[in-house]
Amino acid sequence: MTTISANLQAVIARIEAAARQFGRNPDDISLLAVSKTWPAADVHEAALAGQKSFGENYVQEGIDKATTLAALNLDWHFIGPLQSNKTRAVAETFAWVHSIDRLKIAERLSEQRPQNLPALQVCIQVNVSGEASKSGVSVDEASALAHLVADLPHIRLRGLMAIPEPVDDFARQRDAFRRVREVFEQLNREGLSLDTLSMGMSHDLEAAIAEGATMVRVGTAIFGERNKA
Ligand SMILES: *Cc1c(COP(=O)(O)O)cnc(C)c1O
Repeated sequence: MTTISANLQAVIARIEAAARQFGRNPDDISLLAVSKTWPAADVHEAALAGQKSFGENYVQEGIDKATTLAALNLDWHFIGPLQSNKTRAVAETFAWVHSIDRLKIAERLSEQRPQNLPALQVCIQVNVSGEASKSGVSVDEASALAHLVADLPHIRLRGLMAIPEPVDDFARQRDAFRRVREVFEQLNREGLSLDTLSMGMSHDLEAAIAEGATMVRVGTAIFGERNKA
């Protein structure tokens, strides 16, 4: 077994163990393999080991890999900060965008989504760590943005994404994820049918699963440490 496929099995085992521990059904938690900075060959290896969904933070890098590996029919998720001048390329290539934090970006993605593709699936990124993180809307802004995004024609609002400030303490990790879940539950009470909580990474996926994550985004634990450059 290659390192990547062994790592993938280990991450899946962590997800299953956390699901059991916190009374969740493991089938309700999907794994997004975050392949940013790693070559298409590594994505290919993960794909051969059964992984279907991959997350990328940089538009051109993601497009290059999606093009190289087009024959594998993988699902590409854009999870990084998105500028207006890159929305068309994202709308044409990716199946999901997790990092919506402005209406203007969502409007452009909806307008630019090719008509022959299914609606672009999106999450609104919520910032629950205050100034520690620059990206994402505040808890107070999330509802207004979510209702406007949900009304756009060629995108489908699936849920919320969060990247809490990294901390080691499990209880503190849970506190941040709980705040995201509370926003998610509030939006569903307001009539939005959200089904996706994209939260949890290599170091905190167990805490995220404890608080209801339906999609964990894992890079380092699958592909290895990235160069800090
Ligand atoms: C890099 C990244 C991840 C993966 O982080 P790891 O700690 O390597 O698992 C997840 N989500 C986002 C938005 C990222 O940028």
